[in-house]
Amino acid sequence: MKTYSGKPVFNGIAIGQIQILKKEKKNVFRNHVEDVEQELLRMERAVAEANEQLQKLYGKALLEVGESGAAIFEVHQMMLADLDYQESIQNIIRTQQVNAEYAVAVTADNFADMFAMMDDAYMKERAADVRDISERLISVLTEEEKEEVSAKVPTIVVAEDLSPSETVQMDKSRVRSFVTRYGSSNSHTAILARTMNVPALIGLDYEEEIDGKKAIVDGFKGELIVEPDEAVLAEYEEKAAQEEAKRLLLQELKGKETVTLGGREIRLYANIGGISDLQSVMQNDAAGIGLFRSEFLYLEKDTYPTEDEQFKIYRSVAETMAGKKVIIRTLDIGADKQIGYFGLEKEENPAMGYRAIRICLKRIDVFKTQLRALYRASAYGNIGIMFPMIISVNEVKRIKEIVEEVKKELTADGIAYGDVELGIMIETPAAVMISGELAEEVDFFSIGTNDLTQYTLAIDRQNAKLDDIYDAHHPAVLRMIQMVIENGHKGGAWVGICGELGADLTLTDTFVEMGIDELSVSPSCVLPIRKKIREHE
Ligand code: PEP
Ligand code: MG
Repeated sequence: MKTYSGKPVFNGIAIGQIQILKKEKKNVFRNHVEDVEQELLRMERAVAEANEQLQKLYGKALLEVGESGAAIFEVHQMMLADLDYQESIQNIIRTQQVNAEYAVAVTADNFADMFAMMDDAYMKERAADVRDISERLISVLTEEEKEEVSAKVPTIVVAEDLSPSETVQMDKSRVRSFVTRYGSSNSHTAILARTMNVPALIGLDYEEEIDGKKAIVDGFKGELIVEPDEAVLAEYEEKAAQEEAKRLLLQELKGKETVTLGGREIRLYANIGGISDLQSVMQNDAAGIGLFRSEFLYLEKDTYPTEDEQFKIYRSVAETMAGKKVIIRTLDIGADKQIGYFGLEKEENPAMGYRAIRICLKRIDVFKTQLRALYRASAYGNIGIMFPMIISVNEVKRIKEIVEEVKKELTADGIAYGDVELGIMIETPAAVMISGELAEEVDFFSIGTNDLTQYTLAIDRQNAKLDDIYDAHHPAVLRMIQMVIENGHKGGAWVGICGELGADLTLTDTFVEMGIDELSVSPSCVLPIRKKIREHE
């Protein structure tokens, strides 16, 4: 028995057989070709074939994980069609009189190095994508199948990292967990694990010899236990059975109200990043959406999403939720969420820098495009809009002026829109201290405890070294929440929490006693919180 440690990105217990997804780089040889034109034709056919494969993967991903998860294959198609990329390959074939496989491999290295060196997190990630499409092209050229996970027994997939094409091609019915050496909490691995509701670990330093062995993934402790002895296996089988029983028990709470024993109703909503999370929202019976992180629409694209593109997505969410509240947060980029095409400069202190509403109030064009899309979608459901990183009453007044302009323009264009509740996120100590004045301006507050904790304790939420002192239970944070609820209510605004703390079961009673009106949490946390609230005296 050997135990490896990693970082859990989704909890749960899994027992299965390890399958290491090997990504041995194919040996690509440099061969001289006589007939260059023939080689170029071979290349052209391979591009067409790879494009067709990507189109199929897009369709498959669309059904399995929704539009936001599938979008990566559109990006791959675009990268495949990129003229610079293709010209580089053709040029190498022509000038060096070499085989297409070799030209693709050299181009992949050059382009991936170029992306990796860029000073921009989004562009850096494209290095993995250019390698992914190049490997696909080489596989087509050599007529080899890419290794796929086609697990026949319950399987723990272990890999260096997982590319979107690998995750989509998997036979997911057998996959019980993902474990990767690299990847972050927001990597494809983590997103897929959350969607599939299976435990996942990242940052785990494994050895090749674990391949094929029986193992346990403890997604609570962040451990991979390989070849567990009988006592440990029995203990985990029991734990897994308890988890399953808990899950089934919680299912009985579906359709029930979220009311305390004293009869007070708390609105229990879910946080989403895109349409693909809606299935989970339904499965867990959330009463609405309390935070739609709209920046994911921007992060998934390599240029600004148009008004129409955004409108279709917001409308689809509003329609799917069928009259239930859908609160969409306007673009919150900067800091940890960088988008290349915004051309933001590198900053010394990005968390305190040019981000979120600060960008929107400077880039009125971008802001108005989003607001138009949101207001148009409001005709199709019950939409609320909230604004991130507020620090002053003036900001809110300016936002409301822009909102009025957008509404006037829509009316002039003969476009219908509905009643929209307007709220702000309370994520800064400044907003807490002036919450009395702010409440006069808006319909609701949503407390973003992730950022509020970071700014209150002066601890970078991204800094792993400070994880142990990033204490969202700090009395300063809890008193601020209490203050915001009281001030909000005095000024006629309802108050919710959409940061991670909202899902902390040890604080549910405290929040209810403080007078919270709404909690918005990850879909999988909805039913446990409903249970807790229904038991509240
Ligand atoms: C928060 O800060 O608590 C929040 C919900 O926003 P995000 O985590 O997206 O910054
Ligand atoms: Mg935040």
